[in-house]
Amino acid sequence: MIQLIRGVKDILPSEVELWKHIEETAMMLFESFGFRQIRVPILEKTELFQRSIGEHTDIVEKEMYTFPSSKGELITLRPEATASVVRAYIQQRMYAKDPIHKLYTIGPMFRKERPQKGRYRQFYQVNAEVFGIDAPYIDAQLIYMLTVFFHRLHITGLEVHLNSLGCPACRPAFKQALSEMLTAESEALCSDCLRRKDTNPLRVLDCKVPGCQAVVKNAPAITDYLCDDCARHFDTVKAALDQMAVPYVMAPRLVRGLDYYTRTAFEIQTAELGAQNAVAGGGRYDNLVAALGGPSQPAIGFAIGLDRLVDLALTKTSVSELPPDIFIAAMGDAAQKKAFEWSCELGREGIKTEIDFSNRSLKALMKRANRMSAGYVLMVGDQELKEGRVVLRNMRTKEQTEIGISGILSGILSILTPNT
Ligand code: AMP
Repeated sequence: MIQLIRGVKDILPSEVELWKHIEETAMMLFESFGFRQIRVPILEKTELFQRSIGEHTDIVEKEMYTFPSSKGELITLRPEATASVVRAYIQQRMYAKDPIHKLYTIGPMFRKERPQKGRYRQFYQVNAEVFGIDAPYIDAQLIYMLTVFFHRLHITGLEVHLNSLGCPACRPAFKQALSEMLTAESEALCSDCLRRKDTNPLRVLDCKVPGCQAVVKNAPAITDYLCDDCARHFDTVKAALDQMAVPYVMAPRLVRGLDYYTRTAFEIQTAELGAQNAVAGGGRYDNLVAALGGPSQPAIGFAIGLDRLVDLALTKTSVSELPPDIFIAAMGDAAQKKAFEWSCELGREGIKTEIDFSNRSLKALMKRANRMSAGYVLMVGDQELKEGRVVLRNMRTKEQTEIGISGILSGILSILTPNT
């Protein structure tokens, strides 16, 4: 028997109801905030991720699923969606008519991480990206929108962790100070961080190795190094969050795992998922569009991790499986032939119909209809066919109605949807 590969999972029909509920909640909310959906491919040139996420990040160094195309060009299963959305914004010249675009996308991402609860090799994200707006109000509005999203899903106990990562003008001074501090503590660092402290010291702030985390506790705070423009931007983000009564925690060591962030960076964390505590994260990436060959346009975005959200929501949201509207209990070959036709037509009308072709007794069929919590059972056998009418039983009230076979579809529809 062939099994799943490590780090991936099946999402069974009983769970999909919740996934759909979460996705639809996101879509409706984001669209009311002016976002439109974009669908981008899962495969991209490896170079896109190397240039956007950064060469010295865990993702690019060791987590990408990369393989050569038939032409020998390296392609990668996307580890995140922002790079692809930025590529589309540039390649499709979306900025030409109006640089401002608010886009969201939903789909699977792939990272070769060590699998554990809440961390998968194929996982799902909802991403939202805003291009062309540098006003700090949009940063606050994205965070506000996220809090509304979680509220709609009845997920509580979340914290917004907030930081500013500065810009190319002020970050070098911080990097220098951090690098010097890390060099002084280098005996305590893991082998990866020993290398990173020179190549990309910000990544050390992100390291999960306990020794490195202890060192990082005494690291300088990037917010102490912000230039005037970045400090002003950050102050307005905070004031706008206060204005909308969104609580947040200052997180001066929050850097996130991707290199392209500038200024605002944030994460939504929960205390309920153990080590994998981030359910969403994002930030500003004002230089990425230009770095990938596009016009100089500011941008900001976030990603919600759906797998972790489903784990959280399982305990809080009750989304039950939708039972069939009608269960057709058809007994005998002639009745089944007719019932087949009715079930096709009812399905076309949007009536959720279940039909049993097993030719079992009415008692067995009623038992199954009960188990499925069907709203109605339509009973048809040779006798009913001969008499030209069937019986529709309301499973809740036990009321039975006879319907003539000649007008069966409209008869059923008028009982099921009396007001339409
Ligand atoms: P990132 O793209 O790394 O900023 O992650 C954004 C969100 O995606 C995180 O807050 C997680 O909820 C989720 N996420 C990231 N990596 C994984 C993974 N390997 N498995 C499950 N969820 C993930």
